[in-house]
Amino acid sequence: MTEYREPALLSREADDIKDRLNLPEGLHDLKAKERAAIPQQEMPAQEARIRAHNMDEVALGYTESQVIVEASRCLGCKNAPCVAGCPVGINIPGFIAAAAQYKFDEALQIIQESSILPAICGRVCPQEKQCMQLCTLGKIKKDPLQSVAIGRIERFLADHGSSHSTLDSKQPSTGKKVAIVGSGPSGLTTAADLARLGHDVTIFEAFHKAGGVTVYGIPEFRLPKSIVSREVENLEALGVKIIYDYLIGRTRTIKELMEKDGYDSVYVANGAGLPKFMNIEGENLVGVFSANEYLTRTNLMKAYDRDNAATPLYSSKKVAVFGGGNVAMDAARTALRMGAEEVHIVYRRTEAEMPARKEEVLHAREEGIIFDLLTNPSRILGDENGRVRGIECLKYKLGIPDESGRARPEVIEGSEFQMEIDTCITALGNSSNPLVTGTTPELEVNKWGNIIVDENGMTSMKGVFAGGDIVQGAATVILAMGDGRIAARGIHQYLSNEAQPL
Ligand SMILES: Cc1cc2nc3c(=O)[nH]c(=O)nc-3n(C[C@H](O)[C@H](O)[C@H](O)COP(=O)(O)OP(=O)(O)OC[C@H]3O[C@@H](n4cnc5c(N)ncnc54)[C@H](O)[C@@H]3O)c2cc1C
Ligand code: SF4
Repeated sequence: MTEYREPALLSREADDIKDRLNLPEGLHDLKAKERAAIPQQEMPAQEARIRAHNMDEVALGYTESQVIVEASRCLGCKNAPCVAGCPVGINIPGFIAAAAQYKFDEALQIIQESSILPAICGRVCPQEKQCMQLCTLGKIKKDPLQSVAIGRIERFLADHGSSHSTLDSKQPSTGKKVAIVGSGPSGLTTAADLARLGHDVTIFEAFHKAGGVTVYGIPEFRLPKSIVSREVENLEALGVKIIYDYLIGRTRTIKELMEKDGYDSVYVANGAGLPKFMNIEGENLVGVFSANEYLTRTNLMKAYDRDNAATPLYSSKKVAVFGGGNVAMDAARTALRMGAEEVHIVYRRTEAEMPARKEEVLHAREEGIIFDLLTNPSRILGDENGRVRGIECLKYKLGIPDESGRARPEVIEGSEFQMEIDTCITALGNSSNPLVTGTTPELEVNKWGNIIVDENGMTSMKGVFAGGDIVQGAATVILAMGDGRIAARGIHQYLSNEAQPL
């Protein structure tokens, strides 16, 4: 765990480096060796013991000096390996070079050529497994976490930007209507691209708010909802219509959208909203939640805002969260903020195998989440009123790698032990949402219920495209956006060919 350093101190350090390196406006002629020697700028954050009890954003964002210094670390590699690690292919050296010269609007425009959600991606993308993993600087330092902090620079530019020029450049109307199912990152990206191309786009959303997991799943302290709303407003300014509380598969089927409502094409981006359970004894007790339900109540339904929201939330003292991904970290840190005295992450492998972002695991530890590693619940214990009173767990050891490439957890026989717990949250991942596929037999799915698409994002049903978590299984924001861009190109080509198959 790193020692906490005040934002003001980090800011002063960046000012000093900027002065020492003589980085006035427009001048940017450092040698590669000098760039590589600049220390990575730490992200200012709320102190752990304070933030563990509020819903405000944990990471506070770089100051201008920190951005200039961090951007000056970029070596401007000619082959730009970082770009290959970005699912939407952002011109990373291009926007960083502009940022290093204080051209913040220009830098944001470069990002917006490839991504419409920079404020979201700058906060939640697993950069250390994507762009930063391939960054030359990280390779020199032998640690992807020491690469250029690409996402932190992106976040600064998105938060400070006033420019939406690429979003504004709209083509004349084509007269074609496209329906989009779901307003998560994938649906929003496709909507933006298609609206810019002059198509008439309508998004149908089951909830009363747009944003998908970014509003109902990822907590306020990691991604403030006002940021998602701002991105949605930009889209509406482009002419995209959003119809809320509208359930495709119930209110209207895909066939009806096309045959009765006159949509020329449909993009299905309804995500992976079906929580997985462990199928162990006691999972139906009062006090057991799926992470989806727990997070939706706190985020979308604002249960944390006790004075203004009517959403009830189970009162918990000792919470166990099962899982080791981002969803588990979010649920555990939310439970702490909702007043729990003790929160455990129960995970059957070690921290090295955890799928959660490194930064989120570190933040969770700093806030006091207890990690019970190489441990898994075998049953949930109830009291005479049918409420959770504890869990029984088994200890595990790591064996040879399984099909996921990670070491296989193996039970240690006779290792049973019990923990006193009053709330269990299962965060084992999500399966594809079955509502649309269940009512549209024409859509071919794989054995997990994910929709099968071709290289243009088109499904087995003519004119119907799909992408994001419903195709990939539970994935990431940027992968969902990447699919959205591919499908937008595919839909445009399909519509331009007068509805001829591709
Ligand atoms: C708690 C949590 C934390 C996460 N943290 C991260 C992270 O840190 N970084 C990261 O990159 N990824 C993270 N992810 C994953 C990421 O959020 C998803 O991969 C991404 O949101 C998928 O986008 P999508 O557009 O495919 O679907 P979604 O975001 O799931 O959006 C689907 C939308 O479709 C709507 N919908 C569903 N069915 C229907 C229907 N029948 N009719 C109309 N509308 C419908 C839903 O209400 C929803 O708004 C996290 C996921 C969760 C659950
Ligand atoms: S790989 Fe790293 S150093 Fe090279 S251009 Fe990309 S961000 Fe800059």
